[in-house]
Amino acid sequence: MLHFAVAGVPHSTPKPGGTVEGLKHAHSLGITAMELEWVQQVPKNPERMLEIRKTAESLGMYLTCHAPYYINLNSPDRETLAASKRRILLALEMGEIAGLHSVCVHPAFYLGMDPKVAFENVRRAVNDIMKNKQKLFPNVNLGLETMGKPTQFGTLEEVLKISKEFGIYPTVDPAHMHARTNGLVNSTEEWEEMLDLYEAHLGKGALKSMHMHFSGIAYGPKGEKHHLPLLESDAKWKDFLRVLKRRKIAGVVVCESPLLEADTVRMQQTYEKM
Ligand SMILES: [Zn+2]
Repeated sequence: MLHFAVAGVPHSTPKPGGTVEGLKHAHSLGITAMELEWVQQVPKNPERMLEIRKTAESLGMYLTCHAPYYINLNSPDRETLAASKRRILLALEMGEIAGLHSVCVHPAFYLGMDPKVAFENVRRAVNDIMKNKQKLFPNVNLGLETMGKPTQFGTLEEVLKISKEFGIYPTVDPAHMHARTNGLVNSTEEWEEMLDLYEAHLGKGALKSMHMHFSGIAYGPKGEKHHLPLLESDAKWKDFLRVLKRRKIAGVVVCESPLLEADTVRMQQTYEKM
């Protein structure tokens, strides 16, 4: 099954809001998944995580989260690097308690370095994180995201190579790929190629548990500017959904439109009608 996730608590959630209320409200709108937005910080309360888990399980909601933005696994500064690894580990650990499938992470910035050098640095940091897998997050995936700016580490090839090595799967964001290339990756052929490359690295079975992001996006020569509602963007989003349907992709597509639930429902209903 392919779920469409709202990126955080829906705008229309009744007061006082919060994740648990948001899950109930999203469910009432017909949405079957949510990405928890831990982008400023990771919550540290295991009881709250258990409450989220219980709620999600009772409603049949598929969960992922987005780890904090303040991460650079290519940082030459030892403190920054250690803090980056700690934040990711905490998100994975809390994610395990909350019953998440996957944790999305913005891996790194090149900082002007040769991408090959940055790759080795990120690889080493991922190795350090993965040493804790059995103990802290046996059931949660570490999803390195494809990134929207050429200054950011995270081409599809980079995240696939590392993911293959460690038995994990990346967070594939075709909107970021569209922005990073200043307008490419917006056609059936290019999405097919994207999925072919994914399959070539991780195997056909991996297409049944994907963690994807999608939205409209504003961009320029320097890549991503900001996300846009589907209908205000140049994204050929219906063609994208048709590719997912035809290839029977399963897992989750997180709708990162600023309209949250409105565009999530739009994508889901369009997909279901195909
Ligand atoms: Zn992201």
